[in-house]
Amino acid sequence: KISQHSSVQRFQDQAKVLGHRLIDHHVSLAVTGLSKSGKTAFITSLINQLLNARESADLPFFSVVSEKRLVGVKRDVQPDVTVARFAYEQGIESLNSEPPCWPQSTNGVSQVRLLIKYRNQSRLRRLVSEYSTLTLDITDYPGEWLLDLPLLELDYLQWCQNFWDNLHDTAKSTLAESYKIALEGLDLSANVDEMQIQQISEVFTQFLHNCKAKGYQLIQPGRFVLPGELAGAPVLQFFPLTPNQLKSIAENNVKGENSALLDLLNSRFEQYQKKVIRPFYRKHFKRFDRQIILVDCLSALNNGAHSFNDLRKAINWLLGSFHYGTSNILKRIFSPNIDKLMFAASKSDHITPEQQPNLVMLLESMIHEARQHIQYEGVETESTAFSAIRASQVGTSTFNGEPIQVLKGTTTEGKSITLYPGEVPQKCPEQGFWQHQGFAFPSFLPVPQQHKTSAFPHIRIDHVLQFVLGDKLE
Ligand code: GDP
Repeated sequence: KISQHSSVQRFQDQAKVLGHRLIDHHVSLAVTGLSKSGKTAFITSLINQLLNARESADLPFFSVVSEKRLVGVKRDVQPDVTVARFAYEQGIESLNSEPPCWPQSTNGVSQVRLLIKYRNQSRLRRLVSEYSTLTLDITDYPGEWLLDLPLLELDYLQWCQNFWDNLHDTAKSTLAESYKIALEGLDLSANVDEMQIQQISEVFTQFLHNCKAKGYQLIQPGRFVLPGELAGAPVLQFFPLTPNQLKSIAENNVKGENSALLDLLNSRFEQYQKKVIRPFYRKHFKRFDRQIILVDCLSALNNGAHSFNDLRKAINWLLGSFHYGTSNILKRIFSPNIDKLMFAASKSDHITPEQQPNLVMLLESMIHEARQHIQYEGVETESTAFSAIRASQVGTSTFNGEPIQVLKGTTTEGKSITLYPGEVPQKCPEQGFWQHQGFAFPSFLPVPQQHKTSAFPHIRIDHVLQFVLGDKLE
């Protein structure tokens, strides 16, 4: 009798646990993109939209809101106390300052946890309870860090060779001149001088920063330009040897054992792989359920052909983290458990509404091949264009007697302007595009909140929310 009683009790306990699992569930959403792609503005707006979803947010495509099933959203203590807290309050303060300014970009990993309480629609859930709570963890991390994954498959000398092979663009190799000069004084057979290594590393890092300032996007190693807590650490002090030095190493069969300098550079590179790249994948990347990748196609179009082509290369390189091709080692160690991935072209308030579909087509043409690989791995993907905080208004004007859509906004200098920013090409532009058609827009100042509980104006954040969370809020 006792054993019958205890098995009934066990069954009830298990049913209770199962029931709780049904009504209290969890999603880990990751947001990435290269720096300035709009991650901070996006997460700030997303939290703002969710917190104000019931009162003032405009989210018609987010079904839990349009079906009036959302009960409330609140912020909760984040799970990982070793990771920075996403600075939502500071972001809102900046946006509401006088004059308003954009939130300060984050340059490392940060996290925020939200609890979303809603009325169940799923019959299974309704059997257990009328309401459920979804715990949503959002992690923001720099896309630059994903550019480092392919470095795991190279050794130091291969990486050096790879670096010069990728400098085919003349403007980039001109930028590398002062770095080459700094390297000339380096004698591979001399004793190791740590100060000299540090100085050359600084010149190399400066070269990477200069590339970034010129609008180049494929910057490797990623931590050199976004070091986070590693700024100044020796693990970020190494650099590629010149083609001549590589040739002399190969011809004279120089190995680490007979060049202390080569030995040190080798070991720094290995430490970078072991202590910087791998831990990021182990600690964060593996745990994400869903991923949003922001791509700032419009600023790249604004910067010109070199920037756009480099962005395209960088994004495809970055997407390598979501499919591994034939590399089983990487797959075993790092493969994420992501089931949905969204590609999102950011800052779409910089173009007129009739150009929005072109922006999505352009984004799709940039990522076409990588996307097919990712889908093949069973991940559901979608592309969209959105604006985290709509900083422009749409108006009409006439051009050659025809009405055209124009944008009105306030420049960062505080000047009100009306402009036609240009047509967005539907696919990656050919050389001719850059000669014949300009594409230009200035940065806009954001618009502050009307009052404390009003949500910021946006474009299509509700589509993003529906894709990444809709099925979890049924
Ligand atoms: P992060 O480095 O990826 O976090 O990028 P941020 O979110 O800091 O965005 C970089 C800059 O892009 C901001 O300072 C704004 O100037 C601009 N920006 C970001 N989102 C938007 C948007 O939705 N609309 C407009 N007009 N500008 C944006």
